[in-house]
Amino acid sequence: MYNHRSRSQLSYYHLASEGESNQLPKTMRQTPSFFSRDSQPDTAEKHERIARYYRLLALMREGLWWLNAQGKTVEVTSQMANLLGYKREEVLKTSLFDFLEPAVSVTVQQYWENSKRGIQGNWKVEFTCKNGSISLLCMSVFPLFDRQDSFLGVLAIAHPQTSSTLTSNRSSFLALQERQNQLNAIVTNTSDSILIVDRNGQICFANPAATKLFDRKLEELLGSDLGVPVVREETAEIQLLGGKGKLGIGEMRVAPAVWQGKSVYVVSVRDITDRRQTEDALRESEERFRQLAENIQDVFWLFCPETKQWLYVSPAYESIWGESRDRLYNHPHSWMEHIHPQERELVENWVDRKWCHEPSSLEYRLVGEDNEIRWIWHRTFPVKNSQGEVYRVVGIAEDISDRKFAQEQLRHDTLHDALTDLPNRNLFMERVERALKRSERHAEYLFAVLFLDLDRFKIVNDSLGHLVGDKLLVSIARSLEKILRSSDTVARLGGDEFTILLEDIESYQDAVQIAERIRQALCAPYQVEGHEVFSTVSIGIAMNSNGYTRPEQLLRDADLAMYRAKELGKSRYAIFDQAMHAPALKLLKIENDLRRAIWAEKPKYPVSYVEASEFLLYYQPIININTYELTGFEALVRWRHPYRGLLSPGEFIPIAEETGLIVDLGNIVLRQACQQMRLWQQQISPDLSLRMSVNLSGKQLRDDSILEDLDRILAETGLPGHFLTLELTESMLMDNPEAVTNILLQLRKRSVQLSIDDFGTGYSSLSYLHSFPVNTLKIDKSFVSQIQPDRNHQHLNLPERAEIVRTIITLAHTLGMDVVAEGVETQSQLQQLKQLHCEKAQGYFFSQPLDVKAATDRVFSHYR
Ligand code: C2E
Ligand code: CA
Ligand code: CA
Repeated sequence: MYNHRSRSQLSYYHLASEGESNQLPKTMRQTPSFFSRDSQPDTAEKHERIARYYRLLALMREGLWWLNAQGKTVEVTSQMANLLGYKREEVLKTSLFDFLEPAVSVTVQQYWENSKRGIQGNWKVEFTCKNGSISLLCMSVFPLFDRQDSFLGVLAIAHPQTSSTLTSNRSSFLALQERQNQLNAIVTNTSDSILIVDRNGQICFANPAATKLFDRKLEELLGSDLGVPVVREETAEIQLLGGKGKLGIGEMRVAPAVWQGKSVYVVSVRDITDRRQTEDALRESEERFRQLAENIQDVFWLFCPETKQWLYVSPAYESIWGESRDRLYNHPHSWMEHIHPQERELVENWVDRKWCHEPSSLEYRLVGEDNEIRWIWHRTFPVKNSQGEVYRVVGIAEDISDRKFAQEQLRHDTLHDALTDLPNRNLFMERVERALKRSERHAEYLFAVLFLDLDRFKIVNDSLGHLVGDKLLVSIARSLEKILRSSDTVARLGGDEFTILLEDIESYQDAVQIAERIRQALCAPYQVEGHEVFSTVSIGIAMNSNGYTRPEQLLRDADLAMYRAKELGKSRYAIFDQAMHAPALKLLKIENDLRRAIWAEKPKYPVSYVEASEFLLYYQPIININTYELTGFEALVRWRHPYRGLLSPGEFIPIAEETGLIVDLGNIVLRQACQQMRLWQQQISPDLSLRMSVNLSGKQLRDDSILEDLDRILAETGLPGHFLTLELTESMLMDNPEAVTNILLQLRKRSVQLSIDDFGTGYSSLSYLHSFPVNTLKIDKSFVSQIQPDRNHQHLNLPERAEIVRTIITLAHTLGMDVVAEGVETQSQLQQLKQLHCEKAQGYFFSQPLDVKAATDRVFSHYR
């Protein structure tokens, strides 16, 4: 218990004279200068001096008690021991804390901590005396430090006159003490700052939170001036100047109190900087939210599911729902009254099932005062509290009427004819398909498709103008609607063609009767723009009895029947029978269709009649044999027939040539091909080194307007002539060599290149060849397919046909022409052609003819 070493350390100090005080360590200087470091040697004189001090001390009435850093007694005077009811020797062996009840010990421990921090204090301590009584002692306590500022213990001076014995009610004392400890603990540990300020405004107590809040040491705070607080019993906000000039906000509360016998103010300060910042941020975001909600065009809703009340509804509600918000606040269900009656139940279910459970949305209609319909898209989101319970529902209702109507319009447009507003081909086909399906399920279900074509429309249109033509078509559309039942469908396919679907008829006689009624009704003249116009109609009828599976088949046959009706003298109807599929009629039909399709592209024909060109081009790459580079394309026409699908040139070019329609068709092809090449040039580069080859037929070459047409097309598409190659056949050259040569020279003047197609198949007169200004020979694929090289003697053993190829190539080169091999399908053919110095090749080995998109990809990949 007693430690000799620590005692000798303590003896290092002695009561100092005034003059030595400035040598004390900093902390000691703040205490009265009883002690100072001993700088003198350990002499007899020094011992004498100490002895004198002790005698002096013995005379003092005050008790003197030296305690080391652990609270153990180093030295004690008899007076002190007396005050505790012990003998000096007894006290010497003890610690301060041996005289304290545990409750008191807690308090003293806190005093002790203060001493360690260098704070001198006046302690009031209840000691437990030897006889068990409690003695209240007032002690002045001075902390002691060594040179290194480490705590050595304290010197306590007890004042005997304050001593009082509190034995009368020990248990109540202890209870009191315990309460005081609790209070201490609260004051020490609370996050609020607590200060005690005396009547002069000086701080005489500060808890740890206060030192932290003011960012000062306790000893700096104690004794410093806070000022006399004026606020009593209510809170006030004060600005806090923390360390590093940081500003904060405190909430101050002041209460008068009595402390250590003095009347003081208890000042508590709570740091509300964070709270205030949060409040400010919240207020700001609330303001932003309000601004937003008040100004958006959507309705913003806040709903309390518990009370079923609206907490907030934005002003847009009034304009969209046409009802004041006050009414809604008073009758929370009133928004439902405006919902379309057919959808009210749906919405109610939605509210019940979804709102409080998951984010959801619903589209519904509102009915306005004047029965005006509005489409609403309403989204809701449940908001949960920290316990996971939904306590709010947020909603956003958007008026999507415009979008909805635009969608409906778009859908309507894709299924209706713009001129007459009748269903178009797409919708008609949909309906026929539905009828077909129904007839599969119900054998007794009968329907018929009527195909109508006006007999004189072209004349009306050409003579009176398309404005009159348009009006006539609209009038006829309205007449047809009037004649038919609402369950039937009248559609306009384009041009002057109408189709009718007669559903659920009793017998085929019904269809015939309706056709006849239509025919008669349309015979009557129409008044259009001051003109009396009339046009008879030819009608073809197809019944669904022929085992049809696709709607196009019905349309095709009704069309054929209509064609027969026209053939029989127009203004009549014909019912389809299988005999109509006879080749002769079909050819005539194709001619008729071709005529219509070509006619539809004539510029003078109103745009509204043309859905899209029925003719489209495929492009077959022409490749440089040596470099494999793309050098151009050959344009090959296809016909997208309205009912028969994509037709290849073999199915219609011969008819077109025979009927002379090839001239118009040729111009359609030439225009599209030039346009496409020009487009690629614009997309990539104006001097794209690709050529477009276009097939020319004999009739075109002999047509008087060929040069005029070509010039117009080149001018209108903007394609320079040298990017165009025209392909001619040998037979075309031989027909009238002088006239042809003249035309060819005119073409060459425009820098247009010329090539001879299918070379070798005609009765070619090689001797004439040199007299034509031709750039290229295209070797027909029938020769190319014959090249079968011998593996061992590749160039020695060529078959005879291959020898012809060699001759052609040599001849071409002699005449300064280059050679394109057509129909190259294999690597070995290519190999041969290369050896024969053929320049270019075209064929499935490189590529099939490509549609626009694929050809465009090819061009782009070539120039990447
Ligand atoms: P063409 O001018 O000799 O065109 C080449 C034909 O051969 C094309 O048939 C093409 O698809 C096909 N072909 C290409 N590479 C190969 C191959 O490797 N093997 C085989 N077996 N065939 C290949 P398409 O497109 O059916 O054209 C047929 C004919 O129709 C053309 O023969 C041409 O005479 C004519 N034609 C096509 N478009 C037009 C046009 O716009 N105007 C005129 N007047 N005639 C055209
Ligand atoms: Ca060709
Ligand atoms: Ca050819």
